[in-house]
Amino acid sequence: MMQLFPSTYFTYKNNKLYCEEVAVAEIVKQTGTPTYIYSKNYFEDAYKEFDAAFGEIPHIIFYAAKANFNLSVIKTFLQLGSGVDVNSEGELYRALKAGANAKEIILTSVGKTRNEIKLGLEHDVLMIKAESEEEVILINEIAASMNTVARVAIRVNPDVDAKTHPYISTGLSENKFGVNSETALRIFRMQSELKNIRFTGIDMHIGSQITSVSPFVEAVEKLSNLFMILKKEGIELIHFDIGGGIGIQYKDEKTFSVKEFARAILPTLKSLNCKIIFEPGRYLTANAGILVTEVLYTKKNQNKNFLVVDAAMTDLLRPSIYGAYHHIQPVEIDKTKKEIVADVVGPVCESGDFLAKERAIQKSVHGDLLAVMSAGAYGMVMASNYNARRRPAEILVDGNKFSVIRSRETLDHLLFDEVKVLK
Ligand SMILES: *Cc1c(COP(=O)(O)O)cnc(C)c1O
Repeated sequence: MMQLFPSTYFTYKNNKLYCEEVAVAEIVKQTGTPTYIYSKNYFEDAYKEFDAAFGEIPHIIFYAAKANFNLSVIKTFLQLGSGVDVNSEGELYRALKAGANAKEIILTSVGKTRNEIKLGLEHDVLMIKAESEEEVILINEIAASMNTVARVAIRVNPDVDAKTHPYISTGLSENKFGVNSETALRIFRMQSELKNIRFTGIDMHIGSQITSVSPFVEAVEKLSNLFMILKKEGIELIHFDIGGGIGIQYKDEKTFSVKEFARAILPTLKSLNCKIIFEPGRYLTANAGILVTEVLYTKKNQNKNFLVVDAAMTDLLRPSIYGAYHHIQPVEIDKTKKEIVADVVGPVCESGDFLAKERAIQKSVHGDLLAVMSAGAYGMVMASNYNARRRPAEILVDGNKFSVIRSRETLDHLLFDEVKVLK
């Protein structure tokens, strides 16, 4: 049976799909397909709910821009009081362009370049999260050459199993992220020799799309022990950063609410008496967005139904790389049409180019519109130009209004960097 994703931001009125109060079909009449559509009220409500759940303790949310780095999306969170967690020079540039001030930015990445560290220090971001001893030494050296003192947190790998997809699990000892507890202690104890570093925080991020609170509880516990050991030794940290990773519903996952999350970790967090940092990405954005695509062809190969649509792995990569599930549903429901089971595939020359496999879906014809649900996180940010495809447009809906927050790429845009050098 065809499943409709339960949402209060994307609903059917007279069998037509709406984002908030705007008909999806009306939007794409103007923008064409494929197009990402986001609900601004979803972003705002999710942020406020998260913020309120931790209202009892001093905390800051740093929205993880890598989930959706559109300037208007970053700005929406900034206006709610959020900071931004950035993963590269490019994301730092985006955060600043969106209006963040440097004190609202933290710089992450397992492999920052010398230039990225220098940029972070020049802008004087709130803190740089270091992921190895070598990096700490380099930060100290660069800060010294700039006559400044870098605020640094150490990312600790708490060695817990987040029980998520192996590609998005980051907190096991075998993963590339952070350092183990012993190494972290050793680095923190170098504080007196590191004249151009001030350790301000301890940090973790154990993975993404985590659907149970227990890995968080276990990891917070481990990190708080470390925090207390340091405190006893006179190394007083002012930030305790538990990263992001909170899972959301794509299919029928049993997830936890932010209230349950807070209930589980608040007792430990309270005992630390410092500022708690959160870095949610997916939680704030995934179910705020859909990708709308048009059916180009329907066909049968070997008794298998295919819907060939105009969106591809180049627009939404998650099904191809993680085998991820996204609900796909008609933009207009027609109960007189029968249901079929089909693979929904894109135009790219790769068998890995699919959005869904063996999916129950309303029988469609050329020109029908489909909505790929839960596409607001790790969607557009992973889009590519493979097959020289232009990346999609992005739309932000607010009540009964919508705005184009990124227009569809032009053909000239695709050639821009080459035309300059062509002799
Ligand atoms: C990706 C990432 C996040 C956000 O993860 P979500 O699963 O989207 O919440 C937060 N912090 C760090 C360091 C990350 O790499």
